[in-house]
Amino acid sequence: MATERTLSIIKPDATRRNLTGSINAVLEAAGLRIVAQRRVRLTQAQAEAFYAVHKERPFFRGLVEFMISGPVVVQVLEGDNAVARNREAMGATDPKKAASGTIRAQFAEDIEANSVHGSDSAENAAIEIAFFFAQVDIVG
Ligand code: ATP
Ligand code: MG
Repeated sequence: MATERTLSIIKPDATRRNLTGSINAVLEAAGLRIVAQRRVRLTQAQAEAFYAVHKERPFFRGLVEFMISGPVVVQVLEGDNAVARNREAMGATDPKKAASGTIRAQFAEDIEANSVHGSDSAENAAIEIAFFFAQVDIVG
């Protein structure tokens, strides 16, 4: 299996409820190593740019408002098949459909306030990591 990196974001609903450590524990138990991490308050322009692929979706405005409603924790996760491994640890977008034990099943409030973001492909992971981190900030 290939060692990969992926971008994760702990979303405002989770930082508000003080769940950063609980979520990190699930990620680490899933075999992912947190090799960079920073708590930030996204600007509207940053949130719009990050989620630009969804700009035609009906939920885009609400998603941007939600993502700027409080601090987020951006992080780079490293491990074997990190992209897929993280998506598995996260669970389905809608927490009602997320498998038990996943982050979203345990912690998400609803389909929008769903506690975590994870890159959906190795290609997007590289783009999303570069959006938030310089090479020197990532310590494997
Ligand atoms: P993420 O990209 O955040 O990891 P995802 O890949 O599971 O989540 P996407 O389809 O990429 O899901 O949607 C991005 C985000 O937009 C979701 O995580 C959620 O916060 C929000 N979202 C998606 N679908 C809806 C919806 N139907 N209503 C409200 N918000 C939604
Ligand atoms: Mg997505």
